[in-house]
Amino acid sequence: MSFHRWKLIVALLSTVCFTAAQAAGFNPSTSSEQTELTNRVVRKINNAASAKDPIRGLRTFASQYRPNLLKRFLTYVSYNRQSSETEQITPDQIETAKKLYAEIQAMGLPVTLTEHHYLFVEIPSNLTRKVPVLGYSAHYDVTPGIEADNVKARVISNYDGKPIVLENNQVIDPAQANGAYLPSQVGKTVVTSDGNTILGADDGAGVSILMTFLQTLAENPKRPHGKIQIVLAPNEDVGRAAEFVEETPYKPEIAFDFDGGSGGRVIIENFNARQEIFTVTGVPGHQSYAAENGYRNAWTPACELGAQICPEKLMPNFSTGRDGYAELHHMSAPGGKVSMAELDIRHRGFDTNVMDQWEKNADEIAAKIAKKYDVKISRKMIDNYKNVAECSHPKALEITQTAFTNAGVNINIETARAGTTAAMFVTKGLVGAYTIFTGQNNPHHYTEWLSEEDMFHSYLLSLSIMDEVAKQPVTCTK
Ligand SMILES: [Zn+2]
Repeated sequence: MSFHRWKLIVALLSTVCFTAAQAAGFNPSTSSEQTELTNRVVRKINNAASAKDPIRGLRTFASQYRPNLLKRFLTYVSYNRQSSETEQITPDQIETAKKLYAEIQAMGLPVTLTEHHYLFVEIPSNLTRKVPVLGYSAHYDVTPGIEADNVKARVISNYDGKPIVLENNQVIDPAQANGAYLPSQVGKTVVTSDGNTILGADDGAGVSILMTFLQTLAENPKRPHGKIQIVLAPNEDVGRAAEFVEETPYKPEIAFDFDGGSGGRVIIENFNARQEIFTVTGVPGHQSYAAENGYRNAWTPACELGAQICPEKLMPNFSTGRDGYAELHHMSAPGGKVSMAELDIRHRGFDTNVMDQWEKNADEIAAKIAKKYDVKISRKMIDNYKNVAECSHPKALEITQTAFTNAGVNINIETARAGTTAAMFVTKGLVGAYTIFTGQNNPHHYTEWLSEEDMFHSYLLSLSIMDEVAKQPVTCTK
């Protein structure tokens, strides 16, 4: 039912109730008593309206935190927080982690900062029955690949639909791919950098959402929820968000990563990524007397192995949609020896059964080639990341869809032909998490921008998912 119809009904009923109260003998003698009675009736009807209209109820509740959410976002993007390809942790990230730690402590919540700068918060359940442990994650670093220090955010209220012209010859244009989502933001609030740096919505938006979520729980301890675990990771933009996550007790049974794009997008599935390292070991010696001294060159067998394991039909350029691929990524000579060759092969795919079969075939091919050339071939496999769909909570999709419906946000389900942070967490034995939109657009670019409304919708989702999980019976997936 629309808000306006409720208002009309409230107005009509308050008149009826007031008359009924008078008829029942309650005869307000002063105008303030009359006002109080009317207010009481209106409050009751409003509450009933909220209960019957959960979208409106949630939005009314969450709206009080909306200004805070944007304020936080503008604060966090002003922090220097770049990660580095060469340093274990940057001083800027350490500083940011300390500030976030202090902010969570000031909320009165138990927070841990681990040796390798992961922030972890656990909020005990306030229910009498068990429900699945809910986990939320985000990352507080920004990419080292582009200027990201001293960000000067520009808040554009009531966006007019025109191209947004920034310094540094940067334009976010609704007619171009970098502004394709802008037309939906007319009349709304958009945030950009000044054009000389990225904005840092990736993942300043996710951190703002989860910090505001924590504030909401701290200030509303009676809102029903099960056990909740939150982790804020460093080094995500250099591919190391999962590196020391085991330092925290983060072990949810259903989980969501707040680091997605815009427009209600949820990534529920991604590639499995396996790195297969084959080492071909020949025998060193002088080539001229190879027949006598046993010298074996490793490179002819290595080339044959690479070509057979990664045939043309499995190359990335023939892979679209749900197809995977096998790529001979590069070859190297460890120690510069001609008698040793290393092949780095990348397998990508949604289906682990298909990938297991590729590995079996590769082992058979390797055995034949080793025999043919009289060399040794060994294989090592590294799981770089895994498909979250293969290990997510059995009711994750149903819960997510219901949570979107209850938040009044349209869901836009996606699969990613790439990895996600959650997919890296899975390699550490964690449950597969969906990646939730946060309002980020054009990450890792000067034209990066934020939809404030999407960030608010994502915050709504953090509450709505929590509400939905609190209704579930417990089911352990791990
Ligand atoms: Zn990110």
